[in-house]
Amino acid sequence: MKSDVEIAQAAEMHPIGEIAAKLAIADDELELYGKYKAKVTLDAWQRVKDKANGKLILCTAINPTPAGEGKTTTSVGLADALSRRGRKTAAALREPSMGPCFGMKGGAAGGGYAQVVPMEDINLHFTGDFHAITTAHNLLAALIDNHIQQGNALDLDVRRITWKRVLDLNDRALRHVVVGMGGRAHGVPRETGFDITVASEMMAILCLSRDLMDMKEHLGRIVIGYTRDGRAVRAEEIGATGALTLLFKDAVKPNLVQTLEGTPVFIHGGPFANIAHGCNSVIATKFALKFADYVVTEAGFGADLGAEKFLDIKCRFANLSPDAVVIVATVRALKMHGGLSKKELDKVDMAALKKGMENLVKHIENVKKFGLPAVVAVNAFPSDTQEELAFVREACEALGAKAALSEVWAKGGEGGLELAEKVEEALAEKADFRCLYDEKDAIPQKIDTIAREIYGADGVDFTKEAEKQLAELEALGFDKLPICMAKTQYSLSDDAALLGRPEGFRITVRELRLSAGAGFIVALTGSILTMPGLPKQPAAMAMDITEDGKITGLF
Ligand code: ADP
Ligand code: MG
Repeated sequence: MKSDVEIAQAAEMHPIGEIAAKLAIADDELELYGKYKAKVTLDAWQRVKDKANGKLILCTAINPTPAGEGKTTTSVGLADALSRRGRKTAAALREPSMGPCFGMKGGAAGGGYAQVVPMEDINLHFTGDFHAITTAHNLLAALIDNHIQQGNALDLDVRRITWKRVLDLNDRALRHVVVGMGGRAHGVPRETGFDITVASEMMAILCLSRDLMDMKEHLGRIVIGYTRDGRAVRAEEIGATGALTLLFKDAVKPNLVQTLEGTPVFIHGGPFANIAHGCNSVIATKFALKFADYVVTEAGFGADLGAEKFLDIKCRFANLSPDAVVIVATVRALKMHGGLSKKELDKVDMAALKKGMENLVKHIENVKKFGLPAVVAVNAFPSDTQEELAFVREACEALGAKAALSEVWAKGGEGGLELAEKVEEALAEKADFRCLYDEKDAIPQKIDTIAREIYGADGVDFTKEAEKQLAELEALGFDKLPICMAKTQYSLSDDAALLGRPEGFRITVRELRLSAGAGFIVALTGSILTMPGLPKQPAAMAMDITEDGKITGLF
């Protein structure tokens, strides 16, 4: 079997202008980054902004397991299948972070014969958007430390500066650092730390903004810390907004690439799905909707986290209204939800499969709560048997849910034709999209609604610490924002070990974090690492490049 990078390298790519032409994007509306990558200019947006939107299809999944689900793979394959059916299609996806790329094996540009290319470029540096975010983020940090050094006119409490530094790598040694060591000339010592770039609030801002001027407003609103008498201090008070914004002048434009089969793909922005909302930029989604008739997009993790935040945060802010939702499930993951361990997944166990279906059923019910039609994509793995695949499909149909076998990993778009047909059937149904809660509700009420309706919890408890933060946020008037839940992706509950469809549990909120610039409140239900570490055998150790520039070992 060929590896993902081998399949990708064997692909014959088309010059990006030819791909853009499929969406009637003109050559002079492209800014080329080599032969196969381009940014689409904002002039192109001006030309199409009043056109009607295409159909928006969200690709999400059951709760992920180490067995793998394949949302990106399915999104790419579905987009190719829609193209094969003669539909003018584009995908809108996230940019991969280099942290996981060198850490755990696994890319973020799809897999098998459903990939986006050039995958090496997309996974490594790409068009520099993450460098822009890293630099802007760290510029603000440098300006804050300089402000303190130059006399601290704002009376910032050095123990309460919440703005850290970022780097797009997994580097656990940087989680906690002391800066300003070395004496008077070298700054004021204080404790701080590094997050990974995808966890930067500026990444979330890039992904939620309408355009550069909207970004400027969001950037200015970032709360960087508190004064000694407890007042929240914004980035604009440091005088940083203009400089921060100009660093995004190119990063704000969406990137265009292609699938192995030549379907146009916008890849732009990639915020963490735990402390942010985890979907590609609003700008890229909106571009795709103007230029294509069918747009496939992905939300991170399972539907309880990614889809909920896509719908309640991104769609709310951007006034987007999705038309259908694809829920990706695999036989292997369902068997894990039904009680099998990772080692037992190769054996047929219909009882475990049946039990594991409960997880999928809950996600189907949840999608309906948003007023959206759902289609289950059964992502076929080489180890699955016909009996197992047929069982999942029939079980969905027996519940009145649409389902299709997806073989896009093995066959590309050809393997997604049935899924595409079912998706088109779902699109013909009238979607009646509504957000789950009113953002003006009190914070505990919003969290309670998500926990009960989406997770199936009996209620929510706040720790003492979280209650204190709640009172503070309310006093500062920051409580009328949507909630960005940070929870384990593995379970519907906040306990990663509870697979399937747990019942009789409560959710514990340990911390509330304000992302005033992005415009949401993060509710943390467990300890969330915002700077990952490398595993014992990092993927980086298997990578190499030859004299003629051929990359090996990248997945
Ligand atoms: P997600 O977007 O849900 O995180 P991806 O689509 O990135 O998942 O897939 C994760 C990994 O699983 C990739 O390495 C991909 O090649 C692999 N994968 C996905 N679908 C299949 C499949 N049907 N058979 C085998 N491997 C698959
Ligand atoms: Mg993915």
